[in-house]
Order: sequence, then C-alpha cells, then structure tokens
Amino acid sequence: MKTLKCPLCGEELAPSVQRYGFEYVCWKCKWQTASLCSTEQGAKKAAQKLISKFPPIMRLNQGDNVLIWLRDDIYTVLGTDLEAGKIHLQDVYGDADSYYPTNIKKWPWELDQKGGNE
Ligand SMILES: [Zn+2]
Repeated sequence: MKTLKCPLCGEELAPSVQRYGFEYVCWKCKWQTASLCSTEQGAKKAAQKLISKFPPIMRLNQGDNVLIWLRDDIYTVLGTDLEAGKIHLQDVYGDADSYYPTNIKKWPWELDQKGGNE
C-alpha cells in the first residue's frame, strides 16, 4: 500500500502505537488521526478515509504533478495559496501561473493510479 501523507504539511505519516491501539501521526506538525484502531491496518484505513475528506488543494505538495484541463500537459506544483484558493503551477517550459482547483483535471493521487491498481 502507498504511504500516507499528512494532509496539512505533506510529511509522511507514521503509525503510532498508543496504549489502546494504533493511529497515524505526523511528527512534523503533530496532526493525528485521533481514532484508535486495534490493528495497524485498520488505523491506516481510518487515516486514508480521513485524509480523503480534506480539500484536494490542501493535499498538494511542492513538486507534485497535476494535469490541467484543455492543455493535457503535466504541470508541477510550485506552491499553494490556501487563502486565495489558488495553486501555483509551472509548465514543462518553465512558465509559472496560478490556477484554481477547478482547472485541475487530474490530481497527483489520480495520476499515480496509472498503471497501478487497475
Ligand atoms: Zn503534518
């Protein structure tokens, strides 16, 4: 299974054994799934479910690749402006511009699936 990334800062989440079960935590920003499961696998599933509820823009990290509608080119994420709801992207020619989440055709985790699970 793929590694889980913190929906807030993008660090890799690590399983953590608590007194009453497992959960996933981010060592960097201290985000945690806060729902204890009896197995590590269960904790991972719970974490995935929780992360999927975060808005996609919050789950983007610098260096991620996305696909833009109408261009069908891969763009690289330079950064995000959560307050403005904008994503700063760079195209293959090195030009940078800002886009809204609605301009995104495929998010990194949708691109990853290519040749993966299916
Ligand atoms: Zn974090």
